Amino acid sequence: MSSSIDILVVGSVAFDSVETPFGKVEDVLGGSAIYFSVAASFFSKVGIVAVVGEDFPSLYLEFLKEKNIDIGGLKKVKGSTFRWKGKYGFDLNEALTLDTRLNVFQDFRPEIPERYRDAEYVFLANIDPELQLRVLDQVENPKLVALDTMNFWIEGKPDKLKEAVARVDIFVINEAEAREFMQEPNLVKAAKKILSLGPKTLIVKRGEYGALMFHGDSVFSAPAYPLEFIYDPTGAGDSFAGGFMGYLANTRNAEDGVIRQAMIFGSVMASFNVEDFSLNRMKYLTYPEIERRFREFKKLCTFEDIT
Ligand code: AMP
Repeated sequence: MSSSIDILVVGSVAFDSVETPFGKVEDVLGGSAIYFSVAASFFSKVGIVAVVGEDFPSLYLEFLKEKNIDIGGLKKVKGSTFRWKGKYGFDLNEALTLDTRLNVFQDFRPEIPERYRDAEYVFLANIDPELQLRVLDQVENPKLVALDTMNFWIEGKPDKLKEAVARVDIFVINEAEAREFMQEPNLVKAAKKILSLGPKTLIVKRGEYGALMFHGDSVFSAPAYPLEFIYDPTGAGDSFAGGFMGYLANTRNAEDGVIRQAMIFGSVMASFNVEDFSLNRMKYLTYPEIERRFREFKKLCTFEDIT
């Protein structure tokens, strides 16, 4: 029997309070699984496994359903939803975490519903690496597994994180966190060390400088779209991963050329997401707009060979 979804995502669902030089929002919809699945939903059918508290409004669940996201694995339990508070200065590449309240995630033990277990694509979004490992034990022979993380887990559970990274195909991480994880200031050296842990591919997210993909001896660089108006970089990394995995799951092809296109779709989704706070831009984004920006990316980085 084939799965009812293309991509299984396990990650955080959050109330975020965010301050940037352009404004401030409190307790808005966020979380790694949410940004990922909304971005991926433009390309593929996603199923979320996560937990929320009693305070999570049905309005947000309706929004996810409108995006055709399967929320059968999103549990509502007694307690408060995960909360993250962060701040950005004029350098929007670096988020300063002011507060992290795991709340219902503290006792969460993900149980993957039977009908999600044979999903061909699995994304382990930023969450406790012990939970990521638990998910890996439950999925049945996926075609491609990717994993994301952040400094909170690099510093808190480095060994469990290394164990999880060793078991995935693609590892996605921020530039500063890649250096921190490997205790190596040179990015290329840090990338080599990460690949030696086990994953075939490493994607390093570099904020407004785009993303680099390391695979064997090859490196591919995707630019970030030069936007005049950026309001909130929160979720850019997860939206990147959503566009990237969503496109790969849609094409069911992992040839080098397709993975490169997926990197650009990832950059496209991240570029839309930062145009407003929370998921506000995603609410009215259309597929033709995505395709148009993909073509603008092509113009941005095409050049002739020397003769
Ligand atoms: P990013 O794509 O890296 O900007 O991720 C932003 C999202 O990560 C926010 O919406 C937060 O709710 C979520 N987040 C922040 N800290 C954590 C954490 N320790 N574990 C899981 N998710 C987190």
